[in-house]
Amino acid sequence: MIGNYINGARVTDDSAPTAEIFDPALGAVTGQVQLSSAQATRDAIANAAKAFETWSKITPLNRSRILFKFKDLMEANIDELANLISREHGKVESDAKGELTRGLEVVEFACGIPHLQKGEHSRNVGRNVDSHSLMTPLGVCAGITPFNFPAMVPMWMFPIALATGNTFILKPSEKNPSISIRMAELLTQAGLPDGVFNVVQGGKESVDEILENCQVEAVSFVGSTPIAEYIYQKGSQYGKRVQALGGAKNHMVVMPDADISQVTGALMGAAYGSAGERCMAISVAVAVGDEVADALVAQLSDELQTMKVGPGYGVSEENEMGPLVTEAHLEKVKGYIAAGKAEGATLLVDGREHDVTKTSSGYFLGGTLFDHVSKEMSIYQEEIFGPVLCVMRVKSLDEAIALINDHEFGNGTSIFTQNGMASREFSDQIQVGMVGINVPIPVPMAFHSFGGWKRSLFGPLHMHGSDGVRFFTRMKTITTRWPHVSQVTSDFIMPTMK
Ligand code: NAD
Repeated sequence: MIGNYINGARVTDDSAPTAEIFDPALGAVTGQVQLSSAQATRDAIANAAKAFETWSKITPLNRSRILFKFKDLMEANIDELANLISREHGKVESDAKGELTRGLEVVEFACGIPHLQKGEHSRNVGRNVDSHSLMTPLGVCAGITPFNFPAMVPMWMFPIALATGNTFILKPSEKNPSISIRMAELLTQAGLPDGVFNVVQGGKESVDEILENCQVEAVSFVGSTPIAEYIYQKGSQYGKRVQALGGAKNHMVVMPDADISQVTGALMGAAYGSAGERCMAISVAVAVGDEVADALVAQLSDELQTMKVGPGYGVSEENEMGPLVTEAHLEKVKGYIAAGKAEGATLLVDGREHDVTKTSSGYFLGGTLFDHVSKEMSIYQEEIFGPVLCVMRVKSLDEAIALINDHEFGNGTSIFTQNGMASREFSDQIQVGMVGINVPIPVPMAFHSFGGWKRSLFGPLHMHGSDGVRFFTRMKTITTRWPHVSQVTSDFIMPTMK
C-alpha cells in the first residue's frame, strides 16, 4: 500500500480507508493508496511545524545545496521515475521525462535562492536612517496537486517553498500517488532534514484538514476549477494565503498566412500529447477562413491515421499517445464525443472506433477530430481533458479574439501566423494568462511565472518565477537609526524623514 511520508520515512496506517491504484495501460488494479484521516493529516502538519523551527534558520546557501543534490538524484533515476509515472498515469515515458525535466527546471531556479531572497536595502532614507526588507518564510505550506502532472506540478511548488525556508505538506492526487513518495525519499537522500517535506495521501478529509488547520500558512492548489474555487474560498476564509489554479479550454488561432503543415505538426502534439490531459493542451483550433479550415482538417485527419496509440512503457518502438487515466474518465470523454455528434458538430475522426479502443483492456481512446463546432455546444463550453480537438471557423482575427475572450477559462492560447502586426494585436487584446506566438504550448520557463486568467486561476499570484518567491515569503521591513546621544528628542507628530 502507498501510504504517507512523514519525518523522513514511509508510514502506513493499515486501518485507514483506501482507494485503488490502476495501471491505465492494462486497465487493472495494481495497488492501494491510503486515504488519510484528518487526525493523521493534523499530526503531519504538527511535525512540519516543529521542523520549521530549525529549517527556517539554515542558511539559504545550505538549503540550495540540498536542492542541487536532489536535482542530481532525480536525474540519475529518471528512467525509473518516468516508468513509475507512466504506470500510474498512462503517459508515454518520453513525455514523463519531459514532465520531470520541466519540474527540475524549477528546482534549478530555486537553487538560486541566495540571490532571489536578498530583499531590498536603502541607505539614508532619512538623516542616518536606513531601511531594509527581509523576505521571511511563512511556516508550514501545503500543496494539493492533480493527477495529470504528478511530478511537475508538485515541483512548481515545493522547491521554492523549501528554498525560502518553509516546511511542506504535499497532498498528491490519489490516482497516482507513488512518484510523490519517491521524490520524498530522494529529498531525504539529498540531505533534507526529517519533517521538512512530508507527503499525506488522501482525499477531501485530508484536504479539509489542511484548509482549516491554523498551523498551515499557505496553500498552493492545481486542479479542476470547481475544486480550485472551493480551495480558494475555504483557505481564504481560514486566513491562509492561497493560489489555486483551475481548468482550461485553450484555443489556437490559425491565420490565413500560417504554414498549414507546421500548424498540423504543432497541433498533433498540443492536442493529443498526453492524451489531451494537459491544462495547456490545445483543445480548440480556430481557423480564420474556410480555406484554412479545409486544409487543416484534411491534414489532421491524415495524421491521425498514423498516430501511434498504445502503452506508454515497455515498447520497443515508442508510442506517441497512451491511455486515459481511469475508466471513469474514459467514459466521460466518450460521452463528450457522443454529445458533440448529437449537438451537430461534424465528427471527422472518431477515437471510439480506433483499434486500440476496441481491443485493449486499457483505457485507450484514439485521437478524435470535430469540425464545424459552434459556441453553444458542450464540447466547446466545457473542459473535456481528453484527445478531442474541436475545429471552429471564423471570418477574421477580431472574431477569433472575441470568441476566446468570451470563454470562461483563460489559461493558455496561441496564434500561428507570419504577420507580426496580427500577433501583436492578438497578444494585446487577448484575455488569457499565457500566450504563444507560433508556439503551441506556451508554458513559461521556471524563472517566469505560470498562471491563467479568469476562472483558470483564483488568487493574485502565479506559480514559480518571481511570483513563486513572493508567494512563499512575507516581507518584513526594518528601519534603523543609530543616533548620537545629543540627537535624542520626542516627536509627537507623524514621523517624516527630513
Ligand atoms: P481535481 O480537481 O479532481 O483534483 C485535484 C486535487 O484536488 C487532488 O489532489 C484531489 O485529491 C483533490 N480533490 C478532488 N476533489 C476534492 C474535493 N471535493 N475536496 C477537496 N479536494 C479535492 O483535478 P484532477 O482531475 O486531478 O486534474 C485535472 C484538472 O486539473 C483539470 O481540470 C486541469 O485543467 C487542471 N489542471 C490545471 C492546471 C493549471 O495550471 N491551471 C495544471 C494541471 C491541471
